[in-house]
Amino acid sequence: MAKQVVLMLWAPWSGKGTQSQYLMDAYGYIQISTGELLRERVKTPDELGKKLAEIMNAGALVPDELIVSMLEEQINKLNADNIIFDGFPRNEAQTVVFDTLLQKLGITKLIPIYLHVKEEELIRRLLNRAVLEGRSDDNEATITKRIQTFHTNTQPVIDHYAQHPNFIQVDGDDQPAEVVWEELKKKLNWQK
Ligand code: AMP
Repeated sequence: MAKQVVLMLWAPWSGKGTQSQYLMDAYGYIQISTGELLRERVKTPDELGKKLAEIMNAGALVPDELIVSMLEEQINKLNADNIIFDGFPRNEAQTVVFDTLLQKLGITKLIPIYLHVKEEELIRRLLNRAVLEGRSDDNEATITKRIQTFHTNTQPVIDHYAQHPNFIQVDGDDQPAEVVWEELKKKLNWQK
């Protein structure tokens, strides 16, 4: 089977978790989420763990070298053919690393997916999640900072992959997750 990579170019609070799960169930992808890897690492309260927690709670980005080494370790561990990358690349420097990584892994097809959600809706969802999940990086100040980080660092990544021939954009505003999934599936099937 061809080695495929799906890239989740979605704002971290846009409902991508649900769509990733649908993708895994329907097409057998394995997901690698840098946010999840970091949250796991933070559970070890050593110096690095504390430093990471501080950065994440401030809504900033963790240094690239750290993310890349965690990511490579996880890729080697999972040894999967079809991977969903969630939360990486998050800035332009990581985009360059990512392209090299794809070559190293022998990936033959890349599908960048962007779920577009309006900013007011993103803030509403983030605040809602803060209440439901009690995540320490979901308070109002952090949310504002994360949105800023998104605009400064991640928007250029989206613009970059928007030029890719397999780029897919789906509209996530005011639509239930199942409707978004149907739209995404249709666009994915055109490519298969
Ligand atoms: P997420 O669960 O993807 O929203 O990530 C939570 C937090 O982890 C982010 O706000 C960042 O502080 C950090 N993080 C996740 N992925 C990356 C990445 N690719 N580069 C740098 N920091 C990251």
